[in-house]
Amino acid sequence: MPEDLKEYFEKLTRPSVRNVAPYDAAPISEPKIILSANENNAGVPKGALEAMRAALEKGNRYPDSRNTALRKKLAARFGLAPEQIITSNGLDGMFTMLSRAFLDKGDEVVCGECTFGVYASNAAIAGAKVVKVPLSAAFEQEPAKFAEAVTPATKMLFFCNPNNPTGTLAETAGIRAMLGKIPRHVIVILDQAYAEFSGADDAEPFSLLKDFPNLMICRTFSKIFALAGLRVGWGAAHPMLIDCLYRVREPYCVTAAAEAGASAALDEEAFLSETRTRTAEEREKLSAVLKERGIRFVPSRANFILMFPGEKGDALRTALEEKGIAARFMTCRGMPAVRLSIGLPEENKEVEKILRSL
Ligand SMILES: *Cc1c(COP(=O)(O)O)cnc(C)c1O
Repeated sequence: MPEDLKEYFEKLTRPSVRNVAPYDAAPISEPKIILSANENNAGVPKGALEAMRAALEKGNRYPDSRNTALRKKLAARFGLAPEQIITSNGLDGMFTMLSRAFLDKGDEVVCGECTFGVYASNAAIAGAKVVKVPLSAAFEQEPAKFAEAVTPATKMLFFCNPNNPTGTLAETAGIRAMLGKIPRHVIVILDQAYAEFSGADDAEPFSLLKDFPNLMICRTFSKIFALAGLRVGWGAAHPMLIDCLYRVREPYCVTAAAEAGASAALDEEAFLSETRTRTAEEREKLSAVLKERGIRFVPSRANFILMFPGEKGDALRTALEEKGIAARFMTCRGMPAVRLSIGLPEENKEVEKILRSL
């Protein structure tokens, strides 16, 4: 593109957007094993696939804009009212709605030092300032430290639990204490994209909603439910908070097929429990190999492990690329790190072989 056009579009762009980098997952081209995005490598559950096929037949009709059937099902499952639930085009869509509804130029957004990157980029787009809370020595997010980072200018606080990419989990009691210290002008978002892998009761956090109208708990169908390509996220909060989000929500942002798939996936008990068991077992195996090989890693409560290969970093990267294994490379606390999703047993064997060969 000629230089003058580049400048022209740069000037047209809102100032807060000029320095934002586009989100590109960009794993290696045509990977054989994908361990870079924490998806469920077992594939789409059968019942969800059938439900989506049936929904396609009625694709000439607009979906139910508020996805009432799915919201009712989620409400019954977790002891909530449907009015406390809103669906979104993936959780990414939820975070966009939250920004549109609540964030203004000059507001502050509190999040972890090493966490899901979308929180900070959404804040930047809105012209808000990001305040990062350091991790503990054990790479944990400490709820009390998050509460301390709140100022009169804070509008939103994101607590990712289990945290991506560290995989650590803060207990609900600690989160309750944090919420007790945070003033009501702060919307607290508890991002629980990986709640189902943590081994903790995944219904328990919803009990917090009774006491904190400024809290939103977010979940997604992209991870354990194996529907990342369909884009369905949901959140639970006070009905008044939900109402603020409906004002800025794109109508029909969850397609009929996606809603049908998500509804059906909720019933796939065997698939879900098999995924949970396999993930926990494989996570333990991989952790044992890392320990044995002397590679530093963070003990995980999610379907991925963050490791710090240190001087073995280049060799690890080369070996993964040679075997066609897509992983996520990043820095955490200034240290080069690799986040590897827990795949199927035969996929993890390939990873294990590489780790042993380093
Ligand atoms: C994967 C992930 C999400 C969910 O993304 P979707 O847009 O629902 O696919 C949200 N938060 C975290 C921390 C994640 O890792």
